[in-house]
Amino acid sequence: MDLSAITVYADGRFQKYADAKVGLLTHGLQYGTGCFEGIRGYWVPEERELFLVLLRDHYERLMISAKILTMTIPKSVEELVDVTVELCLRNRFDCHVYVRPFAYKAAEDVGVRLHNVPDAFAVVPVPFAQYIDGNRCLDVCVSSWRRTDDTMAPPRAKITGLYVNSALAKSEAVQNGFDEAILLSHDGHVAEGSAENIFIVRRGVLYTPDPSQNVLEGVTRRVIMELARDELGVAIVERSIDRGELYAADEVFFTGTAVGICPVASIDRRVIGDGTIGSITQRLRTLYDRIVTGREPRYERWLTRTYLSGGVAVPPVASLQ
Ligand code: PMP
Repeated sequence: MDLSAITVYADGRFQKYADAKVGLLTHGLQYGTGCFEGIRGYWVPEERELFLVLLRDHYERLMISAKILTMTIPKSVEELVDVTVELCLRNRFDCHVYVRPFAYKAAEDVGVRLHNVPDAFAVVPVPFAQYIDGNRCLDVCVSSWRRTDDTMAPPRAKITGLYVNSALAKSEAVQNGFDEAILLSHDGHVAEGSAENIFIVRRGVLYTPDPSQNVLEGVTRRVIMELARDELGVAIVERSIDRGELYAADEVFFTGTAVGICPVASIDRRVIGDGTIGSITQRLRTLYDRIVTGREPRYERWLTRTYLSGGVAVPPVASLQ
């Protein structure tokens, strides 16, 4: 994809991707000292509208990630929402998008640390199709890599360097013929996928690892729990999950901004249910898909409209520069 003509937000102003540069020795690149978010925008051609999903929730998590890394984001959550809407407007996107805000340690010298290093912030939006083919059920494996423990570097923060853990697990899985990996935490309990949270269904009850299981506290995870409870009337239990429970589950699915709700067909070659999408997964996915494309008015509060920006003030261009 040619990114050069895309408008990005960097160094406090809007500029072309090709003009926004970072130096080779930048700390964020050398040491992974940064944090980021991944936000989806769903384009609905009938409405000629781009719906940005759960913007505030993502920026609130970015603030927490930054705080954990003792970094400062130069704008408030509300200002970041406005920057994101304006960025999409300026790009005149008429397709699905993925928005990547990130903060990173910007010094160009040698010596790993967090203190006495200036922070930089940028937002890069890219046209986006689908992370994983939405109609497919995934064949996944339990990774030989363990999820990073909170005592090493906290997984609840979306820290750039932590994604080495995800990359090792994902590539091992794919190169061994699977679609995705499930990482166990250091003590052998189920944590999450390489870039997704995980849910299992057993006898009509939904289980997911609680936040102390070294998971990223996913935005999608939280809203799926809300939908399961409020719309499906399904009980949800957050607790540690054993590997064997994965194999015994009636349904297993991943949640994440990139994948949405993604069913699992098999784990370590054991078929889950009948190997197709289970009924609770299907109902949640249908509802989620309708919500993020603006077809469930009572959940419009989760969305920010780009072009009609329903109720959200689009600031004049000059105020952001
Ligand atoms: N876990 C990890 C490690 C992730 O990278 C992601 C993607 N952000 C998730 C879970 C899912 O989080 P969210 O629903 O906020 O996208």
